[in-house]
Amino acid sequence: MSKLIIITAPSGAGKTTIVQELLKNTDQLAFSISATTREMRPHETDGVDYYFISHKEFKKRVKNCDFAEWEEVYENQFYGTLKSEIERIWTLNKHIIFDIDVKGAKSIKKTYGDHAMAIFIAPPSLEVLIERLKNRKTEDKRSLKKRIKRAKKELKYKDKFDCVVINDDLKTAVKEAENLVQSFISKTNTTI
Ligand code: ADP
Ligand code: 5GP
Repeated sequence: MSKLIIITAPSGAGKTTIVQELLKNTDQLAFSISATTREMRPHETDGVDYYFISHKEFKKRVKNCDFAEWEEVYENQFYGTLKSEIERIWTLNKHIIFDIDVKGAKSIKKTYGDHAMAIFIAPPSLEVLIERLKNRKTEDKRSLKKRIKRAKKELKYKDKFDCVVINDDLKTAVKEAENLVQSFISKTNTTI
């Protein structure tokens, strides 16, 4: 059976970077493309990084119960995993890798139990996370402030997941995450 690998962390910890590295190094995984109402960043592609949809469409899909989970991650910015996305990946016979916030991670774990493993990516410190967010240059002042405020809260969830990987040196963190993923997907017994 396909398994679910959840990569979660506050914004700026390095989830997206680590997920992209994991995907590069294996064809056993497929990325769960979330739907979001946030604006597309210059380097992003619709249908690859996210399904970028309007607030109206998002609300309609919530009403239709189309989401496996969804959250208002930032004020008036919605993100969610469509059930159809999980089904799409299942038909590919691949394991699913998610890049979602801590609440979404909890929801997926609750639904899929031992078939899911949640890895929390921790920055070496809050200061480093802030520095990385600033250097990424994707957020304006207001958005940066929102993300830092939420990151402080999310860091407290660190020990609530199956494993923690500290993303200090990127290569080391990717290797650690890779080992965790490989050991989880090669297990026939799904208990972590
Ligand atoms: P998230 O998806 O968790 O918001 P990103 O993957 O976008 O985080 O990473 C935030 C920024 O930090 C990016 O500019 C990325 O290139 C950089 N970054 C990620 N991991 C490291 C690392 N180990 N050392 C230095 N910079 C990193
Ligand atoms: P970003 O705007 O930086 O791409 O993502 C902001 C936050 O939303 C990140 O913590 C990211 O993991 C989270 N996120 C992305 N997709 C989903 C999703 O489908 N569901 C939930 N709950 N969070 C998501």
